[in-house]
Amino acid sequence: MPRAAASIALTSPVEDVPGVGPELGDALRALGVPSVAHLINHLPFRHEREEAEQPINQISPGQRAATRGEVSSTRVSGGYGRARRFEAVLMDETGRLDVVWFHRPGLHRTIHPGMRLLVSGQARRHGPYLRMANPAFRVIDGEEPPRRQARLRPIYPASERITSGAIERVVGAALEDALPLIEDHLPEAFCRERDLPSLAEAYRMLHAPTDEEEIPRARRRLAYDELLFLQLAILRDRLANDLRRAAPLPVTEEIDARIRGRLPFALTPGQDEAVADIARDLSRDRPANRLIQGDVGSGKTVVALYAMLAAAAHGRQAALLAPTELLAEQHFESVSGLLKGSRVRLALVSASLASAERERVEADIAAGHADLIIGTHALLTERVGFRDLGVVVIDEQHRFGVRQRTALQSSTRADAPAPHTFVMTATPIPRSLTQTIFGDLDITSIRGLPPGRGRIQTLVRTPADRAEIDAVLTERCARGEQAYIVVPAIETDASLADVRSTLERIRGGPLAGRRVAAVHGRLSRASRQAVMERFRLGAIDALVATTVIEVGVDVPNASLMVVEHAERFGLAQLHQLRGRIGRGGRDSLCVLVAEPRTPDAQARIEAIAATSDGFALAEKDLEIRGPGDLAGVRQSGAPALRVADLLRDTALVALARRDARDWLTRSPRLNRPEDTLLARRLDKAIRAAGE
Ligand code: ADP
Ligand code: MG
Repeated sequence: MPRAAASIALTSPVEDVPGVGPELGDALRALGVPSVAHLINHLPFRHEREEAEQPINQISPGQRAATRGEVSSTRVSGGYGRARRFEAVLMDETGRLDVVWFHRPGLHRTIHPGMRLLVSGQARRHGPYLRMANPAFRVIDGEEPPRRQARLRPIYPASERITSGAIERVVGAALEDALPLIEDHLPEAFCRERDLPSLAEAYRMLHAPTDEEEIPRARRRLAYDELLFLQLAILRDRLANDLRRAAPLPVTEEIDARIRGRLPFALTPGQDEAVADIARDLSRDRPANRLIQGDVGSGKTVVALYAMLAAAAHGRQAALLAPTELLAEQHFESVSGLLKGSRVRLALVSASLASAERERVEADIAAGHADLIIGTHALLTERVGFRDLGVVVIDEQHRFGVRQRTALQSSTRADAPAPHTFVMTATPIPRSLTQTIFGDLDITSIRGLPPGRGRIQTLVRTPADRAEIDAVLTERCARGEQAYIVVPAIETDASLADVRSTLERIRGGPLAGRRVAAVHGRLSRASRQAVMERFRLGAIDALVATTVIEVGVDVPNASLMVVEHAERFGLAQLHQLRGRIGRGGRDSLCVLVAEPRTPDAQARIEAIAATSDGFALAEKDLEIRGPGDLAGVRQSGAPALRVADLLRDTALVALARRDARDWLTRSPRLNRPEDTLLARRLDKAIRAAGE
């Protein structure tokens, strides 16, 4: 029995839409469209104008047109080597249209005289008749379909299993029943004042526009919603933060001198500025919430340490959270070195600790016997109880979402003062966006690198240059330098360089007799650490690695990096990877082995080869990819932007920012009854962004 369409709910599975069987349902699910709501949210990325059907004698030359008629004759012409073509003559009661298809001689098996045909395309004058070349066509068999009306046809993101046309039919079957179910989270008057259509209207306008003007109107509404959510998320966080109290930790001259005295080097001007920002934040009684962006190698660790030691100077605890165990251990090592002989007590919380040891460390933390605590973000989720957390530093934040930060803040007692939080990242948000997105949020940029660094030269090569690349590997390793060889995968089909094949190849070739090892995500933590440790100590000459080494790994003697299939990596990722070399005094070399096949990939490779300035690359990334997808934007944990364009929609951004501020002034927690739907959708958008 066919299901009644009226039973459709927004939460209904797509299979409840009339005409969707299991197969189509599966194809839609694979496309990320499991329910009717998802279907309505599956937006066309463009629209195609379809002309109304006309009698043949009404068609004007040079215009796109659709018509139907009877095939009166057909002909295959053109010989081998020349363009072969299939010609047909189409007649209706008003006239004659010649139709020709090039390079499709097989059509003579599909189209025969006497058949009725619908064609659409561009007609031109050709001799005494009109001719349409390579039209789209449909054979009419059986019942005559109704005359086609002019319309804008939505073109959907599709897949190999389901075409845009099939999606269009499914949307068409659900739209009328689904639209009235869509509740608007914005009041009607609010929309009217801003000349925004209702939400249901906006979806209708995109899926079934009646005229061209509706499309930008619909997009404006959906873009506005995204921007409003973005601004609400940011401002609400900020507001909540402003309401919390923190213990002020003023950095006196004496404390400053004592901390600097611990460091084996003078701070760079960029680090000095960051430290000044931190000291200013710490002196306040509201929790700091600062993003510190500094290029790879700019020396963020000591800036973090400065903030932590300031807490220790006031007898408070400080935590440093790293995205991986590897980095947590590395931080622990380097901070231990710097603090040798100091009274500051350091603790490492690591998943690799034996459970008894781990319990002891946690008891120390809870009792206040540990001052600086280093670990991974597991420190948050596993609810390690701090006694008196004054400062938290989150390193390489692009692996952390907003939710984790919130988890951290709630891991301290609600009535206790909130810790000052600093987030470090080497993936800067382009300056052209920070103002737009974050307004006056606290952001510090560490400019410049510590002195005495060698330079990094970047070369772009293709697999055809293998002999040259191998020679460089052989030569550098023979000189006692160390190399990373980065591959996109652990194991793949034969066409890709992966860990296994690369290891085999270089062991048998350029690095025969050298000490070569591999690190990747499938190794146990212990073996991964053992390999990294041996590499750090110089007991391994070359390391074949996946992107597990992308972030933070600091081995100054490594001065060569070869990136295989470099076209497969994102710009920020390539920059991070390259940041593993050039850490010592010696000049380093990065060889990108790339065969870019798309203009974007080409642009990425050119950009990375042209500059090693992470801030410049972030701007470039923005240019290439557009802001929606940008790592720096996503890392903010803010709701994603599908429709809005932060660079183009500046007026809408300003409107959304103003509205968000007003809204939160009226309802700081968005907990009035009339905010319920908005608050729910906002939380959903934030959750989706954090995943
Ligand atoms: P990142 O910003 O990528 O986290 P790190 O903090 O790991 O950079 O620092 C990279 C290297 O630079 C480390 O070996 C560190 O000891 C060194 N370094 C940091 N600051 C300075 C400085 N002011 N002068 C000299 N070396 C420094
Ligand atoms: Mg770092």
